[in-house]
Amino acid sequence: MSRWQNILKQSITVPADLPEILQPDRVQSIDVTDYYPMRINPYYLGLIKKKGDPLWLQAVPQEQELDDQVCVADPLAEENLSPVANLVHKYPDRVLFLVTSQCAMYCRFCTRKRKVGTKNMVISDKTIEEGLDYIRQNPQIHDVLVSGGDPFLLSDEKLDWLLGSLRAIPSVEIIRIGSRVPCTLPMRVTFKLCRILKKYHPLFINTHFNHPSEITPEAARACGRLADAGIPLGCQTVLLKGVNDDAETISTLMRKLLTIRVKPYYLFQGDLTCGTNHFRTSIETGQAIMQQLIGHTSGMAVPTYAVDGPGGAGKIPLTPNYIQSLDKQLCFTNYQGKTCFYDNGG
Ligand code: SF4
Repeated sequence: MSRWQNILKQSITVPADLPEILQPDRVQSIDVTDYYPMRINPYYLGLIKKKGDPLWLQAVPQEQELDDQVCVADPLAEENLSPVANLVHKYPDRVLFLVTSQCAMYCRFCTRKRKVGTKNMVISDKTIEEGLDYIRQNPQIHDVLVSGGDPFLLSDEKLDWLLGSLRAIPSVEIIRIGSRVPCTLPMRVTFKLCRILKKYHPLFINTHFNHPSEITPEAARACGRLADAGIPLGCQTVLLKGVNDDAETISTLMRKLLTIRVKPYYLFQGDLTCGTNHFRTSIETGQAIMQQLIGHTSGMAVPTYAVDGPGGAGKIPLTPNYIQSLDKQLCFTNYQGKTCFYDNGG
């Protein structure tokens, strides 16, 4: 068994097994894990400093998950947009391909918490083959986002086979992998894994960090290895109440991501996923944070703030509006709040 598999095996899966100081207040009555699974591996557990801190909030089940009257199980209508099981075809030229139900940690805010890590998510060689067949039969698909669950929870051999099968489809130009492993179990990023991945360029990885405390020497090493394998790395951060919903935290996170060779890609408004309403922030909060980034820090550190529209509407940018008027002249407010003009030409 590899080191990362050994670490994963030691994960805590019920709140009662947490160290006493990290247990939720009413641990006896909590049955959240009957509905939504828990997995906190020893690496991520070691990053949690105290009960209620931003990492604790992301990892430890809370009763509010069972008291959500606002959100729905499948807000992005993924099931309706799946022509075959575990493959979401929302945009014409790209698909989301779910290849495992397992993650190195079950994040409390997960968009797919209706099924990730549970028996509701059935993934087998058969469903993966059906997904591959669908991609083969639809040559308009140029971009495949491999996700789950976390694809890096697959064995090296399985991942090698899967990526090889995708790369053998002539119409597939881009392969993207969505993985939180560089954040939640960075020791999974072995040299062997990187040797496999680099065979399948052009390959992109979008990882997922939500707080500066997640950027550790281990995470830096994992991202460095992937970058050294020639893989461009992006980060999709989710705006979460109590975790990162202030400008200083987001700004620090974005700058630290660049230091570990990860380009901030999206800052997502939380999806309307049942069991996550307690994490939701307002769009005004997100836009105020963006105004503290744009112009105040390197453009490299500024992600696109967006919401994934309910019902499969697709991603909509929520960039704050700097335009006051647009005619023969563009009149805009700059990052310092000054009114400026630009001749519109044409
Ligand atoms: S790693 Fe991603 S898919 Fe897995 S629980 Fe976390 S957010 Fe969901």
